[in-house]
Amino acid sequence: MPDAIETGLASAAKGGGAIGQVRIRQTSDGQFALSHCEDELTTELRIFARPEDAIEIARYDDAGNYRPLKTAPNLRRGWRLNVTNMSGVRDAMDYFYPGRLAAFGAWKQNQLITTTLRETLNRQSGMYRVAAKISDEQIDDLVGSFCKSNGGCLRTILWKRDSNGAAPSTKLLAEKYDPSFDQTGRDRPIIPLICQEACGLLVNECRKAVKAESDG
Ligand code: SF4
Repeated sequence: MPDAIETGLASAAKGGGAIGQVRIRQTSDGQFALSHCEDELTTELRIFARPEDAIEIARYDDAGNYRPLKTAPNLRRGWRLNVTNMSGVRDAMDYFYPGRLAAFGAWKQNQLITTTLRETLNRQSGMYRVAAKISDEQIDDLVGSFCKSNGGCLRTILWKRDSNGAAPSTKLLAEKYDPSFDQTGRDRPIIPLICQEACGLLVNECRKAVKAESDG
């Protein structure tokens, strides 16, 4: 029996849906074609045929810069990845967006565990320990700029700022916390890229904000 992930992928494939910036389409021969969602009308695409080719496609942006955050809205364009079956689609998506299908599956089954930002910061060690000193106001600004979908990150945030349930940032639109919303703004059927816990890049930004304040 297909699980929640496979069911979600199959319905996305039939309905012109996407995960982040990757569009999934079932082809007439029952196979699957993955491509950048802005390349729907592009005819000159470089063709790939192995799920693991997604690693290379996702590594650099269009300008050739390394992409440290795989859910940033800067996936390069100009390619199509042909995959023969659903298992290949899952593998490819795990390379494009590591860990996101598993988070989606857990969320669908009400088993997703989220961690507040304060908890994530409080458990840091070494040079990152100082990040816990960040103020709520600094978090509000930082998360509002670093995590925003337009130019920051396409994940839907499900963690809270602290154990009181405060929103991560008042500067993000309500849709940033809504898994049914297409964070690319294209309003397609989507499998959301869920953020259940602050990533290491945001933790590092918190550290830098605290350091900047104490150095300045
Ligand atoms: S904390 Fe989550 S939403 Fe923010 S940049 Fe990191 S992965 Fe994206």
